[in-house]
Amino acid sequence: MDIVLTGTGSPLPDANRAGPSTLVKAGDTHILVDAGRGVVMRLAGAGSLPAFLAGVFVTHLHSDHICALNDVITTHWVMTQGNATLQIYGPVGTAQFVERQLAALEADVGYRIAHHDALTVGPQVNVTELTAGDSFEINDVAIMTAATEHSPVQPTIGYRLEHEGSAAALVGDTIPCEGVDALARNADLYVQTVIRRDIVEAIPNEMLQDILDYHSGVVDAAQTASRAGSKRLLLTHMVPAPTAEQYPEWIARAAEHYDGEVLIGDDLYTVTI
Ligand SMILES: [Zn+2]
Ligand SMILES: [Zn+2]
Repeated sequence: MDIVLTGTGSPLPDANRAGPSTLVKAGDTHILVDAGRGVVMRLAGAGSLPAFLAGVFVTHLHSDHICALNDVITTHWVMTQGNATLQIYGPVGTAQFVERQLAALEADVGYRIAHHDALTVGPQVNVTELTAGDSFEINDVAIMTAATEHSPVQPTIGYRLEHEGSAAALVGDTIPCEGVDALARNADLYVQTVIRRDIVEAIPNEMLQDILDYHSGVVDAAQTASRAGSKRLLLTHMVPAPTAEQYPEWIARAAEHYDGEVLIGDDLYTVTI
């Protein structure tokens, strides 16, 4: 499997980091986890497209993780001329969010159907709402889910994807919890959205201080990786966004608590497992 960071950013705008999303290429099966700002541009950069996606997995309904889902839906629709169905999976609430996205796109859908003879139907989207603990398969990829902990955002879901003997855990925003441990257990790669607690704590901004209680810090992620026996830890959604020169410092911090390999990167950074 190739795991491509299609967006390493956070809610904070960044010229070089798209919003949070990660693409998993399991052979020909492409699965997108979350759909943050700029995701369709990054999919193109990763050699994929919305029309190639076998599924879009939503971890939670925070805007930074889903604000470009409408672009995924529209681009999928236009490029397949309405002949394919986009499969979206997510926690309870995802279906309502998608319905409302479709309602917001109503005028555009009408214009395009009126203008293109080839287009006779609107976006074909199928939403599967998951309960934590559900497992299912897409082609030859086995998917397991578990509850993560990002309260007051509820419910939130993390995913473990297994393909040809390799396993990747992609868990979204969460503090360490049993669900993450289960998904990351002996995984070849554990992908965690992180903040730097030490830096955030030093910034006198109330709203920034609020993020401390529902995110994993770099140390938390490293401790989870160690406890779960994950072979490699990949950091993403870094707050505050580091420069490439600061990557070694982030890695060193994690390495104090974890013997495995710690990875961090720019958008489109790819890990093969
Ligand atoms: Zn969040
Ligand atoms: Zn987030």
